[in-house]
Amino acid sequence: AKELGRNNFQFFSEDMNQSILEHLSLEKEINEAINREQFSLVFQPKISLFDYSVTGVETLIRWQHPDKGMITPDRFIPVAEETGQIIEIGSWVLEQSCRQISSLIRSNVLPNTAKVAVNLSARQFTDPSLLARINSVIEISQIPPHCLELEITESTLMEDVESAIQIMQEIKKIGVSIAIDDFGTGYSSLAYIKRFPIDVLKVDRSFVMDIPDDKNDMAITAAVIAMAHKLSMTVVAEGVETQEQLHFLRQNNCDEGQGYLFSRPLSLGQLHQFLNENERM
Ligand code: C2E
Ligand code: CA
Ligand code: CA
Ligand code: CA
Repeated sequence: AKELGRNNFQFFSEDMNQSILEHLSLEKEINEAINREQFSLVFQPKISLFDYSVTGVETLIRWQHPDKGMITPDRFIPVAEETGQIIEIGSWVLEQSCRQISSLIRSNVLPNTAKVAVNLSARQFTDPSLLARINSVIEISQIPPHCLELEITESTLMEDVESAIQIMQEIKKIGVSIAIDDFGTGYSSLAYIKRFPIDVLKVDRSFVMDIPDDKNDMAITAAVIAMAHKLSMTVVAEGVETQEQLHFLRQNNCDEGQGYLFSRPLSLGQLHQFLNENERM
């Protein structure tokens, strides 16, 4: 038994070395990516399920690696979060998002009721300079504060509920709105949800995915929409891919949808074109 334990330990240790090495090289490469401007942004339209107008976009980061090709955010955001590099990356995402959308609003390509939603990681949310950064980005980009929305996951908020409420209230004072991302996948309790100043609730794709086959997911989705409405929140369904899902969401009064059925995430040029075509419909 002793020997087995030792072998297990060695196996575990080698495995760990491997992942530490990968981690270190990714950390270094993320630094290079920041300096060599390998990051870019794409924008995924959010659609009103009442009149199919474009209500706004969510910004999603992309990393074009010179050798490895496209690296998805699911792979490098968690590393950047751990190393703290997310602060610099996130700050860049926020500024670029606001600059690009602000110019679309000023040139009337987007109405000034449209919102740009930017993902905020846990580390960014608790960063002491967050509010100063938001204020300065609004100033630099000349975006109307009500056109900016920050997407925060439930787990970020649950780390320290009292201070989360305080930070959210400060964000709201600026006029920026707050969306809860991936709703239903974290450990949040309804007792807290009612205390958070939340404007938008995003129903996680995992619930939408199996509509109309999974009756439980349909029940949960319908209940979440009804609850959010009672709490005066707007509901966005993530990952809408089929007509059946759209039909179900509309029947249950879901406010907005986002997903491949409407559009994939688009480059700025593609977004421009999408908005022009959408207007003509
Ligand atoms: P998320 O915030 O939940 O973003 C939605 C993800 O679902 C995006 O993946 C989007 O491309 C994808 N998606 C949208 N519609 C559909 C659909 O109909 N079907 C399917 N299968 N997928 C759909 P993406 O761009 O790979 O981003 C993954 C995650 O990485 C995001 O999840 C978010 O947590 C994180 N992320 C992306 N950009 C940023 C960023 O700028 N900052 C931070 N902190 N996190 C980011
Ligand atoms: Ca999001
Ligand atoms: Ca999400
Ligand atoms: Ca997600």
